Amino acid sequence: MKRRIDLNEKDIPKQWYNIQADMPNPVPPPLNPATGQPITPDMLAPVFPMNLIEQEVSTERWINIPDEVLEKYLIWRPTPLYRATFLEKYLGTPAKIYFKNEGVSPAGSHKPNTAIAQAYYNKVFGIKRIATETGAGQWGSALSFACNQFGLELKVYMVRISFNQKPYRKLMMETWGAKCVPSPSPDTNAGRKFLAQNPDHPGSLGIAISEAIEDAVTTKDSRYSLGSVLNHVLLHQTIIGLEAQKQLEAIGEYPDIVIGCAGGGSNFAGVALPFIRDKIHGKNIHVIAAEPSSCPSMTKGIYNYDFGDTAETTPLLAMHTLGHNFVPAPIHAGGLRYHGMAPIVSRLVMDKLIEPRAYSQLETFAAGVTFARTEGFIPAPETNHAIACTIEEAKKAKEEGKEKVILMNWSGHGIIDLAAYDAYLSGKLDDYVLPDNEIQGLLKELEKYPKP
Ligand SMILES: *Cc1c(COP(=O)(O)O)cnc(C)c1O
Repeated sequence: MKRRIDLNEKDIPKQWYNIQADMPNPVPPPLNPATGQPITPDMLAPVFPMNLIEQEVSTERWINIPDEVLEKYLIWRPTPLYRATFLEKYLGTPAKIYFKNEGVSPAGSHKPNTAIAQAYYNKVFGIKRIATETGAGQWGSALSFACNQFGLELKVYMVRISFNQKPYRKLMMETWGAKCVPSPSPDTNAGRKFLAQNPDHPGSLGIAISEAIEDAVTTKDSRYSLGSVLNHVLLHQTIIGLEAQKQLEAIGEYPDIVIGCAGGGSNFAGVALPFIRDKIHGKNIHVIAAEPSSCPSMTKGIYNYDFGDTAETTPLLAMHTLGHNFVPAPIHAGGLRYHGMAPIVSRLVMDKLIEPRAYSQLETFAAGVTFARTEGFIPAPETNHAIACTIEEAKKAKEEGKEKVILMNWSGHGIIDLAAYDAYLSGKLDDYVLPDNEIQGLLKELEKYPKP
């Protein structure tokens, strides 16, 4: 039995997998909110470089990973696949639990998989500078690392409450040479508007997105970059599942269950989409996306067109959403606090190829601590959702006496998030489940937008 399955550098996948070639029902096109008509690629040109817009709408099944991107991937990829034997033993489960460790990247999560690719495509398109937003700071740090690798300037609008609470993330960004400012900031019209309402505005991801887009479209040689949700982001993340397929094949295994945590859906999609391709072609696999019960876009939201941001600057996307006015509770899994879900993941949920499940904050931290005390690695609060789901499935396998093979994406480590563990270990963390009447109110506001 192997505990750690490594791929050789030369066996790193050379192409990303684009599920848009295989989906039973295509993703509905983004709509122009002013006209209700599908937007055209040229309308996105001020926001993203055209080479990434082409990937966004591509239906080519396999897309070559440029050599310059592969070279950077080799800084930390291929990532190891582990069998969690100590966790299995602790649970007394007949299930075999495998986890793909995406926490070994320089930024500590899966996010550099797309950050490196996006920085590269911006660079070759002639872009000199990127503007982006970050919530808890994971995306900002991943893109700072990537922009530094390709010699691009970066400005990060960081949600003010996180900026104040998480100084270490800002320091990572600055170490890689990026500029990080609290949002709302005085640097944009959108930011000034919110600051005028409240000089101590805590900020939100939606406001920070609006600021970053405004910055990108009004500054020379600049573009905007998003760390999740969009089709091209999910595409870049498929390197996770493609590597895992090779690693499992090398030891003669194939998963019965594939699990990831889902905020915007990118790390989950990264591990799951190559396996969903097999499922579309008849394989019997159970694919589960784990989300927080305080921000339950897939399990309690509806499938509808909605804005991607609070300030209504983005096109309308067909996705599972709680409404763009939803303000999630300040749970510690900052990366999972998004009102919507990736359009690709949402469509696959509608087609019953993905089962969404929600977990509360306390059960996810209990799972994360169990993981740290068996397997050693301290997981990110987001990752704890995938672990809670994995433990639930491993216990079910025990009850049923079945030797199930479980593959989980371990999306990142929690070393920069120890304050969250402090809150949990000292009993200060509570469970917050979004009340149904509040959800009903939010969903009612969506009636004015088209149904896909
Ligand atoms: C950002 C983040 C997530 C959630 O984002 P997705 O786009 O849903 O993957 C999950 N885990 C970690 C460690 C993150 O940094």
